[in-house]
Amino acid sequence: MKPAIWLDGSLCDADSARVSVFDHGLTVGDGVFETVKATEGRAFALTRHLRRLARSAEGLGLPAPDPDEVRRGCEEVLKANPVPFGRLRITYTGGFSPLGSDRGTAGPTLVVALVEAARPADSTAVVTVPWARNERGALAGLKTTSYGENVVALARARQQDATEALFGNTVGALCEGTGSNVFVVLDGELHTPPLSSGCLAGITRALVLEWVGAKETDLPLEALARAEEVFLTSTTRDVQAVHRVDARTLPGAPGPVTAEARRIFVERAAADIDP
Ligand code: PLP
Repeated sequence: MKPAIWLDGSLCDADSARVSVFDHGLTVGDGVFETVKATEGRAFALTRHLRRLARSAEGLGLPAPDPDEVRRGCEEVLKANPVPFGRLRITYTGGFSPLGSDRGTAGPTLVVALVEAARPADSTAVVTVPWARNERGALAGLKTTSYGENVVALARARQQDATEALFGNTVGALCEGTGSNVFVVLDGELHTPPLSSGCLAGITRALVLEWVGAKETDLPLEALARAEEVFLTSTTRDVQAVHRVDARTLPGAPGPVTAEARRIFVERAAADIDP
């Protein structure tokens, strides 16, 4: 079966779907997106994802996406592509603009697609990178398609057999990964950087804060070198233990705090599809 996607108000065959080569999302990264977990045809935490999509669009100055249309697109794509486990990718861009950096007037482009995915591994290795997230930048905290910085950092991680790269911010505080938030255990207590660090308001992060509890603390990047446990959160990783940070191994990962956080997260997420 050919995958079906949602493009500007209707379902169509992914192979023949057309978006302009002058789409502002493609030419200058003027777009926002969401990745939503899809299990057995049901989207997890969709209401929170739609809210964040709207916030990101507002931050970028895009017209507000119609939440009913995006929701309909997700439902139609899920119905048309029955896969046991995957991710919905919602992309919303500035649309057609032949004039370079100024956004056109033709209106935004909305695409919803579903990608089949593997379940996340229980643990992973991460590296720290020398580049800073700019917590005072115009895009801080927005989920935009301007992901070049993350692509470069992730390539660095892969060179070191890791699956994630962690950033500090401009004042050297721990911030986030290329596509995940980070939690650390220090003296038995669970901490995660506050949103003022420049990290994305991750939906998994928010659920862990609500369901498990953690302190939002400004920490130096070096806290990773003395943390008893480290874990990542994201839609694609859920709660994932870290067993290596740079050259430092964390034996026994997942440690007790991580294991408990994951247990609670999995249990609560299974009980409520749209928390
Ligand atoms: N930080 C960044 C930069 C991300 O791109 C993501 C998700 O893609 C996250 C954190 C985690 O957010 P969520 O839990 O909503 O997937």
